[in-house]
Amino acid sequence: MSRSAHPAGPRHADVLPEGHYTAPPADLNALDPRVWSRTVTRDADGVATLGGIPVTRLAEEFGTPAYFLDEDDFRARCRAWHDAFGGEADVFYAGKAFLSRAVVGWLHEEGLNLDVCSAGELTTALAAGMPAERIAMHGNNKTTDEIERAVTAGVGRIVLDSFQEIVRVAHIAERLGRRQRVQIRVTVGVEAHTHEFIATAHEDQKFGIALADGQAAEAVRRVLKLDSLELAGIHSHIGSQIFDMAGFEVSARRVVQLLAEVRDEHGVELPEIDLGGGLGIAYTSEDDPREPHEIAKSLSDIVTRECAAAGLAVPRISVEPGRAIVGPTTFTLYEVGTLKELPGLRTYVSVDGGMSDNIRTALYDAEYSVALASRVSTAGPMLSRVVGKHCESGDIVVKDAFLPADLAPGDLLAVPATGAYCRSMASNYNHALRPPVVAVKDGKARVIMRRETEEDLLRLDVG
Ligand SMILES: *Cc1c(COP(=O)(O)O)cnc(C)c1O
Repeated sequence: MSRSAHPAGPRHADVLPEGHYTAPPADLNALDPRVWSRTVTRDADGVATLGGIPVTRLAEEFGTPAYFLDEDDFRARCRAWHDAFGGEADVFYAGKAFLSRAVVGWLHEEGLNLDVCSAGELTTALAAGMPAERIAMHGNNKTTDEIERAVTAGVGRIVLDSFQEIVRVAHIAERLGRRQRVQIRVTVGVEAHTHEFIATAHEDQKFGIALADGQAAEAVRRVLKLDSLELAGIHSHIGSQIFDMAGFEVSARRVVQLLAEVRDEHGVELPEIDLGGGLGIAYTSEDDPREPHEIAKSLSDIVTRECAAAGLAVPRISVEPGRAIVGPTTFTLYEVGTLKELPGLRTYVSVDGGMSDNIRTALYDAEYSVALASRVSTAGPMLSRVVGKHCESGDIVVKDAFLPADLAPGDLLAVPATGAYCRSMASNYNHALRPPVVAVKDGKARVIMRRETEEDLLRLDVG
């Protein structure tokens, strides 16, 4: 994002301080539909509503801070991804973005599959009735217990991430008398983040087996020799919050090259290719993500072209969107507690949550939008930083935002696009109680994950 001063400026500053912001929006009360979930709008009184329910009522009933999830939006995004490939690909929702039993139920009903990467996520998936064959197990260091449970449950695939794991999974499957379907996760030498991607010969990171130096080809050789493993295909995941398809292009080309090598060496055409997740969403009005059908077309075209060039039949494609499905469906609602004006700098607005319910700003310098949700205001823009209540100066929710200058304690602020990697990364720092997730559908709200209680805290603390 650009750094620019705006002639209207905030009320305290002649020169705007350093920060990631552009000019104040023309209308501080507007709720940009790109950033907010589908059923969010303002009612006649100016109160923001979700599925027709005013946030003031939601706050009264469920308290703050809380996550409010638009179930229709979630399901619509599942369907959009499912339909994007015309049934010619498998969509795996990445459970780590946000997983609960209700979510698993929606995925099941909407025909999606599910990625898990721990025993806990596997347990949740199975407990909510996801058929095991629609589950894929990920992770760079799956424990023996996790592998045993995945094989015993009969998961559709385990994505192998290291040479040790090839042997480990093979032994466990053999001992359990199973033939386990697997994919090999390769590191294609592409790292993509938002608008850029970096292609390098060697990937300096912990995931996957490098294509470089023939390591991935060696992994294929070893897996093909093991009777208890059925090699279904090759997997690649190149990054997160990606808008530019160029990284996928390089990745798909390199994976298809490996498939061609495998055919030449072993006479085997592997039937599957997984291109991972990482598709970006709009956190602010400046982000402009592409629709699932555009992404699907572009991925299918790339794979089809590369396979034609290599003389291969087109394998079945799978993708693993997490953020792109759940991210935009949810906003976090906070109550304003205190305001501190720092003349010439900005106003610090403290809310009743923070890094315990959204670590992404502190962890990745992530950008978010924020709006006064409990009313509209005609006041001018005030350059603000929305911060939490934790004992940490890095406890920032929204680094730079313009909020109405008459903002006051008791006002409700809503931060959109917090569906992914917020509740799932939430912590108990300062013994904060992790907020509830409330799903709204057809004008009705229900808790799908309750707020933690002090009893929950004390239950774990055995004294
Ligand atoms: C994290 C992850 C995803 C999902 O990433 P999003 O950015 O949420 O789409 C998909 N596949 C793998 C292997 C991952 O690690």
